Amino acid sequence: MKTIEKDVVIIGAGLTGLTLAYYLKKAGKNVLLVEQSDRTGGVINSVTENGFTYETGPSTGVLSSLEIVELFEELHDKCELETAGKQANKRYIWKKMKWEALPSGLISAIKTPLFTLSDKFRILGEPFRKAGGYPDESLAELVVRRMGKSFLDYAIDPFLSGVYAGDPNKLITRHALPKLYALENNYGGFVRGTIAKYKENKKHPQPNAHKITHEVFSVKGGLKSMIDALTLEIGQDQLITSCRQTKINPVGKDYITTFTDLSGEKYEIHSPKVVTTVGAYALPDLLPFVDVRLMKLMSETTYAPVVQVAVGYKKWNSIKLDAFGGLIPTIEKRKALGVLFPSAIFKGRCPEGGALLSVFIGGMNKPEILGMSDEEISQLVRDELRITMKVETEPDLLRIHRYQHAIAQYDIKTEKRLESIEKVEKDFPGLILAGSFRDGIGMSDRVKQARTVANQIL
Ligand SMILES: Cc1cc2nc3c(=O)[nH]c(=O)nc-3n(C[C@H](O)[C@H](O)[C@H](O)COP(=O)(O)OP(=O)(O)OC[C@H]3O[C@@H](n4cnc5c(N)ncnc54)[C@H](O)[C@@H]3O)c2cc1C
Repeated sequence: MKTIEKDVVIIGAGLTGLTLAYYLKKAGKNVLLVEQSDRTGGVINSVTENGFTYETGPSTGVLSSLEIVELFEELHDKCELETAGKQANKRYIWKKMKWEALPSGLISAIKTPLFTLSDKFRILGEPFRKAGGYPDESLAELVVRRMGKSFLDYAIDPFLSGVYAGDPNKLITRHALPKLYALENNYGGFVRGTIAKYKENKKHPQPNAHKITHEVFSVKGGLKSMIDALTLEIGQDQLITSCRQTKINPVGKDYITTFTDLSGEKYEIHSPKVVTTVGAYALPDLLPFVDVRLMKLMSETTYAPVVQVAVGYKKWNSIKLDAFGGLIPTIEKRKALGVLFPSAIFKGRCPEGGALLSVFIGGMNKPEILGMSDEEISQLVRDELRITMKVETEPDLLRIHRYQHAIAQYDIKTEKRLESIEKVEKDFPGLILAGSFRDGIGMSDRVKQARTVANQIL
C-alpha cells in the first residue's frame, strides 16, 4: 500500500480534469490526477491512419469563452490552435431530400425555403412580442411561441441535435441555453436583448472580450494534441492512469482516495480537497458516503447516446464540401443526425483531393442505434451518405465510436440535480463535483468550469 499526501486529488483526466490540474499545478499546488483509462483525454481523442486524421469524439469546439482562448495562449508552444475560416459559417439543413443553406443575411432569410412565409412575417414581430413563458419552459415551447414552428423544426431542432443530440421538447431553456433565456427574461426578447447586450458591451467592454471570437476551432494534428500538451505540462508524477476501484471517503477534515493501479498496487491518498470530473452515472461508486436520495438526483442525469462515425475517401467526386457540415431535422425522419465536413474546414485531415466526413447518429430520439452491430451501423451510414451526400463510391476508411453517455441533458431534472450538488458540497467542505452535468457541455464550458474551480480552490 502506497500512502501519499496531496493538496488536491482530481478524479478523471478528461478536458475538465486536465485543465484543472494544469492551473492548480501552475499555482504551486501538489495535485494528483486519478484516471481509470490507460490514456488521458476522456471522450477527446484523434487518430491518424491511412492518410486521414480524424476525431473519435468531439470534432470541433467554439471559442466562446475567454478561458479556452487563454488556455490555447498558454499552450501555444506545445499545440497549435487551428481556427476554421469563414467557410465554417455556412451550414446546411436537410429539407425535402436536399441541403438548403441556413440563411446568413436578410436577403437569404427572405428567400430561404426552410421557413414558412407566415413564420417569416411572424419573426418581424418578435421584438414586439410580450415576454411570457414560465421558468421550466422547454426550448420547443419558447421557440414556437416567439418565432414559429418552422423555426423550431428547421433551425433550433437541428442545432440542438448538433450540440446536445437532444430533444427540444425536453431541454429546458434556462439550463440548456441560459444566454438565450436571459435575452427574453432580462430584455423582453431575442432581438431587443441582442441589441441591448451589444450596446452594453460597447459601453462597458469586458477586458479581452474581443478575443472571444466564437470561431470554430480544432488543433493542428487533431484535438488530441491539446490533450497531449496538457498531459505533458502536468507531468507523470501528478497523474496515475489505469486506476481501478477508485473510492473517496471523508475522514476528519480530509478525504482519503483509494484505488488500485494496473500492477495491483494499492494507493491511499490523503488530501483536504477532492474534485470529481466524471460523468454523473459514475458518482455512486466513487462517493459511497453520500446520502442515497441526493445521489440519485445526480446519478440519474439523462445522457444522450451518440455513435460517431469517421468516414474517409481518398478521392472525393461528390457534392462540393464548402461548409461546416449539414444537420438533419428530426421532422425529416432520417437515420443520421448530421454530417460534418472536417476536411473542408481544417488542413491535413485527408489525402489531397479526398474528403473526411464525420457522421453522427443516435441521440435522444434514436437511442436504439447504439445497440446496432458494426455491420448494421456501417451499412446505415453508407446508405445515408449515398442519399444525402450523393456518394457513389465505397469509403476508404470507416471507423465507428459508440458513446452510451455522450452528452448530459439539461432537462427537467436539472434543477434538482443542481440543488443536490450544492447540498453535497455544503455538507462535505473540500469536495467539489465538477463535470459536464453542470455548467455546460461544450469544450469551452469545460475549460471555463475548470478555471472557476481552480480559482475557488486557490
Ligand atoms: C461524441 C461526442 C461529440 C461531442 N462533440 C462536441 C463538439 O463538437 N464540440 C464540443 O465543444 N463538445 C463536444 N462534445 C462534448 C465535450 O467533448 C465534452 O463535454 C468534454 O470533452 C468532456 O470533458 P470532461 O473532462 O468533462 O469529461 P470526459 O471527457 O468524460 O472525462 C472524464 C474522465 O473521467 C474518467 N473516469 C470516469 N470514471 C472514473 C473513475 N471512477 N475513476 C477515475 N477516472 C474516471 C474517464 O475515463 C474520463 O477520462 C462531444 C462529446 C461527445 C461524447
